[in-house]
This record gives sequence, structure tokens and C-alpha cells, in this order.
Amino acid sequence: AHLDRIAAVDADVHAFLHVDGEGALAAARSVDERRAAGEELHVLAGVPIAVKDVMATQGLPTTCGSKILEGWIPPYDATLVTRLRAAGMPILGKTNMDEFAMGSSTEHSAYGPTHNPWDLTRIPGGSGGGSSAVVAAYEAPLAIGTDTGGSIRQPAAVTGTVGVKPTYGGVSRYGLVALASSLDQAGPCTRTVLDAALLHSVIGGFDPMDSTSIDAPVPPVVEAARRADVKGLKVGVIKELGGEGYQAGVRARFDESVALLQEAGAEVVEVSCPSFDYALAAYYLILPSEASSNLAKFDAMRYGLRVLPEGVDDPSAEQVMAATRDAGFGDEVKRRIILGTYALSSGYYDAYYGQAQKVRRLIANDFAKAFDQVDVLVSPTSPTTAFRMGDKLDDPMSMYLQDVATIPANLAGVPGMSLPSGLADEDGLPTGIQILAPATQDQRLYGVGAALE
Ligand code: GLN
Repeated sequence: AHLDRIAAVDADVHAFLHVDGEGALAAARSVDERRAAGEELHVLAGVPIAVKDVMATQGLPTTCGSKILEGWIPPYDATLVTRLRAAGMPILGKTNMDEFAMGSSTEHSAYGPTHNPWDLTRIPGGSGGGSSAVVAAYEAPLAIGTDTGGSIRQPAAVTGTVGVKPTYGGVSRYGLVALASSLDQAGPCTRTVLDAALLHSVIGGFDPMDSTSIDAPVPPVVEAARRADVKGLKVGVIKELGGEGYQAGVRARFDESVALLQEAGAEVVEVSCPSFDYALAAYYLILPSEASSNLAKFDAMRYGLRVLPEGVDDPSAEQVMAATRDAGFGDEVKRRIILGTYALSSGYYDAYYGQAQKVRRLIANDFAKAFDQVDVLVSPTSPTTAFRMGDKLDDPMSMYLQDVATIPANLAGVPGMSLPSGLADEDGLPTGIQILAPATQDQRLYGVGAALE
């Protein structure tokens, strides 16, 4: 049924970069056989899933939305893909994304943009617009995204779906093409909070292949989603997120969601996190610095594309590398490599990268202080509803501002969820509320999220 749905709508939505119908059907049949043989299977066994194209999938193309990886077929599976397969979840295909996960609209994909299923003239958010769009368009019941600065939560907000960024280290990064290794985290894109919890419990947990993986059991997310209880819970509304620059309809639906939590027995207070004002600036130094280093491995020798410089006989390795990177990387990727190498260069390192790391510490301190007073924090997920395609393409700064509310969680490593908060009056498009919890306390997101659903 999902393959039929993909065939019917994906020409318009363009959320998939690669569909593996045969592989998905074979995996579904093998689940039937295991079940018939009396094997006890996971509750999600047989439920198909789509995976963001940033994850290594053995035998399936993995491009990261970039021309530089065109034609590369990974020889191994990312740990989380191994876990999906072991649970018996057929992989429908790979979803579209901004090139190397840099963007907030999926317009920076080298393979063309994804369209928002609510209104095809609008963006589905980014960088994981493909993963949220397939769920919103009923092309897949579940998907996996990655969130470095908001790429699971912001697309969830603008497509009216649920998206979770687990605690940093909660889901293995082994086999994920790194954007910024200290910020990246994979997580669920779903239509309900319980679906997200079930999926989280499949992909989460310790992995010796990832040195930053947390060596502890997955938090009790499914139990919390089933309990859906906020009685006596202290909820902090973040003062710095939600004021100027936030669309009126986004703010109105957010205030209503907060009132619903109060009616359900939560105690709501306002909490100030003053350093959050500097989060975006710090992020756009730390992320490009790490990305410029991570992307150095695309050297024309190891993966995908290789371009020979024109008019050069017997080119050097360096000339081939330059020609390949020039042809293979898009403008946004080049912009960030230039920013990152500049911020890391000697003479500027302390002024930019070092300074940004200090701000990162202040943000973690703000979270620690806030969580001394409250159990969870809330804010609107994204300042606006889905904007029109093309609107922000010439203005990187306004694109970056889409993530003002989501970035602090990545800088501090704390978990965050976005869930639908209703449609904005002015445009009838989905808005999202973001819930944040202390590191390793992911179950709190699910308790609050399920209570709001
Ligand atoms: N939009 C943010 C960026 O462009 C977030 C990216 C992400 O989370 N992968 O960096």
C-alpha cells in the first residue's frame, strides 16, 4: 500500500531519492515467514520505514543530497539501520535532504527540492524535509531523520508531524555521514508520540562502534508515552524564545498548548535562559568548523565522484581534488567550508571557535539552572509556518533564523521533541510546540507529548 502511495504522490512531493520496492517487499515477506514459524517479533515488525539519505545502507545508494556522493553504494549498514532490519522493519527507501544536512528547507538538495504535502508551493522544512514529508504524505508510516541544529524538529513542525531529537549519544551515530559530530543525533519522524517512542526504543541504546554512545538502557519512553501524565509536572516557558520574530499564529497556538498542559495538571512558570540569544551565532561557528573537517574526506579518491581538471595533462592529486570538490559541492556547502576553515585557522581560532565554545558552555549552564526549577522546558519549535519555496534562498541569514529555537538543545546535548500544535489562523498551516528535557531524561518528552496529543 505504501509503495502504491509513493507511486501516486511522490512525483509531486519528491520526498524520496531512492525507492527500494523489491527490498522492502522481500523484508516484509520474511517477517511473515518468521511470524508463521512462531517467532516472537517486535511490535513494529513488518511496519515499513523510510530513512534519511545521510545513513549508510548496504547495497542502497547513499548520497547525502550531494553530487559528490553520486554513485556511492555503502558496503555496510549504519548501526541504526541494522537495528531496523533486525526488528523486521522493511526499508522503503532513502529520503531527500539538504546537501550534507545543511539547510532548513530541503532546497539545498543537489537532486531538487522536496515539496510540503500541505501546500506544494511551500518548503517541508530541512534538512530532513524528505523524512517528515513522507510521513505527512502517508508515503511511509515512520521515518528516520537526523538533527544537528533542528533538522528533525523544524520539519516536523512545518509538516504537522512528530519529530524527536534524542539525548546526544542516545542513538548510535555509527554509519551516519557526519555533519558536526558533537551536535548530530538521529531520531524518529512519525505521526504520533507513541509511534515515536516505539521507534526510539528500536534504534536507541549503547553501541560500542560509537565512542560517544551512552552506555545505559534506552530511557522508558514507551511507558511514558502510554502513561501520558503531566499532573504535578513543572513546565518552564522559555522567555527568550517566542517573542519578536515569531509569527502571530505560531505564538497563539503555542499559548493554547501551554494552557492545555495547565488544565491537565501541570504547573507552568516562565524561565529565563539569557545565553540562548547567542546560540545561533555560536552554532554557525561550531557547525562550519566541524563540518569543514568532516568534509575533508571527500577527496576524489575514496568515494563517488571524480572530476579531472580541464585542459591539464597529468593532473596532480591536489588538482583532481580541487576540480572534484568544485563540481561536487553546492554553494551552501562551500560557504560553510570557507567559514569553518577560517574560524579554525591560527590567529582566528581563539577569537571565533574558542569564543563559540565558551558560549556553548554558558548555554549548557542556562539549561542546568532551568532544570533545577522545572521538569521540562517548552517553546514554539519554529518561528514561522512553512514559507514559500525560493523565499529565503538568496538570504542565508534568514534561513539560519529558522533554527533559533531548536539549536540550543544541540549545543547542550539535551533531548527535544516537536509535536503538532494546531494550524495558524493567518495561513492554515501547521505549527509545532517544542518540549525539552534534561540529558538522558527523554521519557519526559514522551509523557508531555502524549498528554498534549
Ligand atoms: N538548519 C540547520 C543548519 O542548516 C540545521 C541542520 C541540521 O540539523 N542538520 O545547519
